[in-house]
Amino acid sequence: MRKKIVAGNWKMNLNRKAAFQLIETIDSLKFSNNVEVIIAPPSIYLESFLGKVKNFNISSQDVSANDNGAYTGEFSAAMLSSLSLKYSIVGHSERRLYHGETEEMIFNKAKQLLKSNMSPIYCCGELLEDRKSENHFKVVASQLQPLLDNLNSDELEKFIIAYEPVWAIGTGLTAKPSDAQDMHSYIRALIKEKFSSSIADQISIIYGGSCKPDNAKELFSMEDVDGGLIGGASLDADSFSAIINSF
Ligand code: PEP
Repeated sequence: MRKKIVAGNWKMNLNRKAAFQLIETIDSLKFSNNVEVIIAPPSIYLESFLGKVKNFNISSQDVSANDNGAYTGEFSAAMLSSLSLKYSIVGHSERRLYHGETEEMIFNKAKQLLKSNMSPIYCCGELLEDRKSENHFKVVASQLQPLLDNLNSDELEKFIIAYEPVWAIGTGLTAKPSDAQDMHSYIRALIKEKFSSSIADQISIIYGGSCKPDNAKELFSMEDVDGGLIGGASLDADSFSAIINSF
């Protein structure tokens, strides 16, 4: 059975007081046992949250592609792992767009995480023009190619893949559940072709892009949608918990 996962990406939101209030509220909620809940707060709060929460995992939103050294402002996978963090998001479309991250950089970040025994939450997803020109499958396949070409199955098993059509992120537009299903099953087929059906069946593929309490149930009911990566709606405890309880 694949893990069901709901991960909240707070991005660069919430001052200290609001962040602590929200994390405490979420930690006091009861979730069903078979959903793994992950929260990715701004990195400045990571260490203090880690000692605080009991009911879910904490993730970084990003990590350096480098080991260590003169990289001002960055932090390494080894540093994250020394805090006992298990997860980091890599390849979010905002990192691709605003920080010029390339496939090579994103894959190097994932490799750094693997080296520190952490799990990448690996984001992929097409732009609106790719979907309009019906290139969305091709684009997502090319974003996943470095994983398929360079990893062994033990490494790939550590990944959570997040399919996030860029046109749906923060826009209020959501992929139709059937479109999400088509892409998730396509991604699973790519893994099956390169590895095996047992590996493909184990990897959680989550959906991100304006996932809200009113559409989560339908999205999560799709066979290959194993949960969600939630932006805006993860900043509100009621919405986030409604999404978690949508399986
Ligand atoms: C995201 O940024 O990963 C995301 C899915 O955002 P939102 O839920 O706000 O669309």
